[in-house]
Amino acid sequence: MSKPNNSFVSPPKKLLQKKFDKFAEEIIKQLQKNGHDAYLVGGCIRDQLIDIPAKDFDVATSATPEQIRKIFKASRIIGKRFKLVHVYKGSQVIEVSTFRASGAKSNQEKIVKDQLGKILRDNVWGTIEEDCERRDFTINSLYFDPIQKKLFDKHQGINDSYKRKIVSIGDPMLRFEEDPVRSLRAVRFATKLNFKIDKQIKDAIYEKGHLLSSISNARRFDEFNKIFMHGKAQHNFEKLETFDLLKHLVSHVGQSNSYGYRLQMSALINTDNRIYEGKSVTPGFLLAAILWPKLIEIATVENLISTRRFFPNMDKILRDQQILTAVPRRFYTYIKDIWSLQLRLQSRIKNQPFKVLQHPRFRAAYDLLLLRIEASNSKSDIGDWWTKFQSCNRQTKLEMIKRHRENSSNSKKFGLSGELG
Ligand code: ATP
Ligand code: MG
Repeated sequence: MSKPNNSFVSPPKKLLQKKFDKFAEEIIKQLQKNGHDAYLVGGCIRDQLIDIPAKDFDVATSATPEQIRKIFKASRIIGKRFKLVHVYKGSQVIEVSTFRASGAKSNQEKIVKDQLGKILRDNVWGTIEEDCERRDFTINSLYFDPIQKKLFDKHQGINDSYKRKIVSIGDPMLRFEEDPVRSLRAVRFATKLNFKIDKQIKDAIYEKGHLLSSISNARRFDEFNKIFMHGKAQHNFEKLETFDLLKHLVSHVGQSNSYGYRLQMSALINTDNRIYEGKSVTPGFLLAAILWPKLIEIATVENLISTRRFFPNMDKILRDQQILTAVPRRFYTYIKDIWSLQLRLQSRIKNQPFKVLQHPRFRAAYDLLLLRIEASNSKSDIGDWWTKFQSCNRQTKLEMIKRHRENSSNSKKFGLSGELG
C-alpha cells in the first residue's frame, strides 16, 4: 500500500497552463478558506489531458454536505443513495461531493448492499485516499487542486490517459457487482475518448453485464441519454451490441441488415450529425425512430399497416421500453404524435395536409419519414412531395393535393414498400 503522500505527483504542464471553470475554482477557494481540502475531479481533468473540452466540472472535498451547504447560500443537498451538493450561480450548477470512505475501511453496516453485492446506500465520509478507491476507472480518479497546483494520482490515471486505456480500480468483477452501471460507463468512455478497454474489464462486462437488469429504469434512462445524446450514438449502439448490453437499454433491436436495423442506424447517425452541427436533439425522436420498426412489424397485416393494430400497439411498444428506461411522460405524447403523423403524412386527403403542416410535431414526423424512405430504399415520392409542399404557395399546394387524389387509388394504404414484411 502506498503512503498517502506518495500519491501526490507533479502535475503535467497541460494542467498547469489550463484555465479551469471560474465558478468551480471559486468554489474550491471558498472551501479551502473554510479549512477544507477541495479538488477538481474526474472527467474534467481526464478530458483536459487528452485535449478535449470538459463536459462539466465536478468538485470533491473533505467538507461534509452540511458544511458545504452552510458555505454556499445558493446550494442544495441532493440524492439519497449518494448524497451530494449542487452549488448554483445563475444557470450554472457545480456538483460538489464529499470524500467517501472505502468499503473495506468503513463500518460495513453503513454501506448498504443487496444480496448480489450491489451498493444501495453509501454515505460514509472518508479521506481523499479512500474516495479515490471508490472511483470507477483510473482515468477518472485524478484530483487536481487548481489553486495550489497539486495533483493526486494514486492509480496512474495520468499514465493510462496517455496510453488511452480504460482500467478498473480494483477487480472489475467486484466493482461491477457493486454498481452494474460501470459496464455501460466503460463502453461509453471507450467510444467518447477513443480509448481501449482493458481485458479484465471486458471479461467483467461479459460476466456481470446481466446485472444491469437489477438497477432502476430511471438510472438506465440517465445512461441512455449519456450514451445516445452526446455525439457517439451510432458507435455506442454497435459496441453495446457486441458486449450484449444493448438489450438493457433498447427493447427492440433490428436484426443486422434488416430494414429495422437500417432505420435504427440512420436515426443514430442523424442524431450524431445534428449534435455535430449544433442542432437540438431529443431522446423522444430517437426512441420514436428506434421503436418504429417493431411497431409496424406488429401492425402489418397482408403487407399493409392495419390502423386497427397500429394505434393500440403504440402503448404496448412504449411499455416494453418503459420497463428498460423510465421514459418521462412528456415523451409519450411526443412519440405517439410522431407515429400517428406517419399515417397522416401518407394519406394526404382533403385539407389534411394543411393541418399536418401546422402540427407542432410536423418537422419531427417529416424527419422520421425521410429516414424511413432512406432505410427502406423506397421509390416512393412521398418525401419529395412533402419537401415541396412545405415551401410552395397555397395555390400549388391545392393543386398538389388534387393531383395526389387523382393518382392514388387508396388513401388508406399505409406503409412504404420496403418496410413491410
Ligand atoms: P463525463 O461527465 O464526461 O461523462 P465523468 O468522468 O465526469 O465523465 P460523471 O458521470 O460526471 O463522469 O462522474 C464524475 C466522476 O464520478 C467520475 O469521473 C468518476 O470518478 C465518479 N463516478 C461517477 N459514476 C461512478 C460510478 N458509477 N462508479 C464509480 N465512480 C463513479
Ligand atoms: Mg462529469
